[in-house]
Amino acid sequence: MTASIGRVVVLLGAPGAGKGTQAQILSERLGLAHVATGDLFRAAVRDETPLGVVAKGYMDRGELVPDAVTIEMLLERLGQPDAAAGILLDGFPRNTAQAEVLDKVLADKGGRVDVAPYIEVPEADLVARLGGRWICRAGGHPYHDQTKPPKTPGVCDIDGSELYQRTDDRPATVQARLRQQLGALDAVVNYYRSRGVLRTVDGRRSIEPVADDLLAAIAPATGRRN
Ligand code: AMP
Repeated sequence: MTASIGRVVVLLGAPGAGKGTQAQILSERLGLAHVATGDLFRAAVRDETPLGVVAKGYMDRGELVPDAVTIEMLLERLGQPDAAAGILLDGFPRNTAQAEVLDKVLADKGGRVDVAPYIEVPEADLVARLGGRWICRAGGHPYHDQTKPPKTPGVCDIDGSELYQRTDDRPATVQARLRQQLGALDAVVNYYRSRGVLRTVDGRRSIEPVADDLLAAIAPATGRRN
């Protein structure tokens, strides 16, 4: 399972930074396999694979799956044929231990992390993005303070029922969870900065300008290899 590997892009960003959306755009435009560990875990849980059974409990509690399990799953994915053309990693690594294993795994395949673009969004903006979600009592129709406000505050446009916030979408809860995740992200950002592959992009703007900046940041770094 030491097939070779092409370009490797590690996309970094906090929850709410728009990483998933940008990962889709970038992988398509750059012809890279989009490898999202969260998606791989969700598929494993759905298919009830042995790995999925282990992962489920952790995911349900909102905890990270242990590194050994995560890395086993990633290795399997990297062994698939489409990875040879290059990969865009989304959701991995989540800590420096995973980053170190990734370096070793890639070195075995004659590769390395070519570039780690980081979509930077200030914490206050993340809380506003993540904490602005409202749902209607009658039909579960979703709203957002910033991106999709209801016509009348607190009332569903569709069925007129009251809007409420799920406990885990309230700003205080969002902030507490975010703090933990930002700490781990910071360590990973510093890891790639120290290796000279980090490229920071201002994520406070709309999807298109952020995508353009990410593409500009990735292209020169990955263009050096063939
Ligand atoms: P995500 O869609 O990236 O938010 O991931 C969903 C869940 O999958 C996370 O809450 C973790 O339980 C698990 N997960 C995804 N990626 C990793 C990773 N790199 N390390 C450990 N657990 C992960």
